[in-house]
Amino acid sequence: MSDYDYDLFVIGAGSGGVRAARFSANYGARVAIAEDMFMGGTCVNVGCIPKKLFVYASHFHEDFVDAESYGWSVNSEQFNWKTLLENKNNEIKRLNGIYEQLLGNAGVEIIHGRASIIDAHKVSVGGKEYTAKNILVATGGWPSVPDIPGKQHIITSTEAFYLEKIPNKIIIVGGGYIAVEFAGIFNGLGVDTTLMYRGPKFMRGFDGDVREHLAVEMEKKGITFKLSTNISKIQKLDQGFVAICEDGLTLETDMIMYATGRAPKIKGLGLESVGVELRENGAIIVDDYFQSSIESIYAIGDVIDRIQLTPVALAEGMAVAKTLFCNVPSKVDYNDIATAVFSQPPIGTVGLTEEEARKRYEDVVIYKSDFRALKHTLTKRDERVLMKIIVDKKSDRVLGVHMVGSDAGEIIQGIAVALKAGATKSVFDATVGIHPTLAEEFVTMREPVNS
Ligand code: FAD
Ligand code: NDP
Repeated sequence: MSDYDYDLFVIGAGSGGVRAARFSANYGARVAIAEDMFMGGTCVNVGCIPKKLFVYASHFHEDFVDAESYGWSVNSEQFNWKTLLENKNNEIKRLNGIYEQLLGNAGVEIIHGRASIIDAHKVSVGGKEYTAKNILVATGGWPSVPDIPGKQHIITSTEAFYLEKIPNKIIIVGGGYIAVEFAGIFNGLGVDTTLMYRGPKFMRGFDGDVREHLAVEMEKKGITFKLSTNISKIQKLDQGFVAICEDGLTLETDMIMYATGRAPKIKGLGLESVGVELRENGAIIVDDYFQSSIESIYAIGDVIDRIQLTPVALAEGMAVAKTLFCNVPSKVDYNDIATAVFSQPPIGTVGLTEEEARKRYEDVVIYKSDFRALKHTLTKRDERVLMKIIVDKKSDRVLGVHMVGSDAGEIIQGIAVALKAGATKSVFDATVGIHPTLAEEFVTMREPVNS
């Protein structure tokens, strides 16, 4: 046994930290975890989980309308924000308890409070010092908002989860995951919603067809776009706010939400004084095994800013536990990580976009399908599904699969297994479909398109 209080001291009980702590303890390590806000971190409290619950809530309005074409009369359409909030908060309280229990059952000591690093083997929480052979920084990220006059009047996704009242009108600034997901949520709940993005086409980094398709579908649902527009100043009015844009445009609204990315949460951690090297944006620099420039200090999850997704933080946490306490040096394979954007309709994607594939491969073949789902043949809804497969002509390997449409996340998760296994287009073609589903289209696309 070492002279340290713990073998591992984890800072941050979010997705990555909890995973690393639990598995390290299961492998026999003496582990402590410090958390200064809420058990489970961003995903459980102000991220994936409450977001998905809000997405469900906001979709009912469309479901009620569509139900009429199937013979149902939905007479009373009333929405109570307080009920949603209360039920969501109760569920999160339950999850907080489960996380605490999981850690306790694994033998991890939970220390409530804000931690800072004193030296390579010492952490302080609430004035008390703890020593550890290894320290793992898993402190996540925090919304990053540009420094403009009137910034104090805006909300971010964190506040959006606890609003007293939902606004009649909202401007959402940004064109990434959070902006499009919340535009769908507010729009579905009946809020007059404007999505403002600084460029001409939002969802940068996603496949070009996916970006276009999503924009068309979101507009059909009633979301207003202000593209190539950015706010330079926000002023408070007697009621609501006015956003003054760089091009002189002024927009009055009840609420302005910024979804302009998330920055690593490192303030007050003492990283610089200990000598941990950081990138310009504050992300901790780590090697393939998540070791920082200080041998005993590791970092995982959003604070290293590789891919900001919960399953990635979990995989990184698992890798650290295996490397340190299971004698199996473990890296994370970042290739072909599937992701879903819970926009309305949702995006599901895995592998390369067409643009990336064309840069990396000499000859790529594109299969694409754009159609109306069976469900909407009876409804009056003009919603279309996009499905796309990108293939390397030489090897026949499927390089990327993309979808915009109902259940895209559920469908792409299965396809991701095929890509991970190195599936070729011939394997897709040899797979018998499930009828009638949207997903069967992925195994029945035969004719390539000239993209
Ligand atoms: P976190 O989960 O952020 O945990 C870090 C923890 O450290 C926090 O609890 C924090 O309080 C604590 N902490 C920080 N500093 C200290 C300190 N000094 N002392 C003690 N404790 C400290 N990902 C998905 O995969 N799917 C989704 O659908 C999805 N939706 C999202 C929706 C929103 C609105 C947001 C904001 C994010 C979403 N994400 C989603 C991203 C996902 O939540 C993050 O990638 C994930 O939570 C990162 O995990 P982590 O362990 O790195 O950090
Ligand atoms: P993103 O990085 O996805 O998007 C940020 C957006 O803000 C981009 O459109 C960016 O524009 C724009 N932007 C950045 N800086 C400015 C600025 N100064 N002024 C105006 N616009 C700006 O971040 P999000 O905040 O949406 O989400 C953070 C991360 O959390 C995501 O990247 C994702 O990894 C994770 N997440 C995952 C979800 C999921 O899995 N479903 C859901 C929600 C979040 P540009 O493109 O031009 O740079």
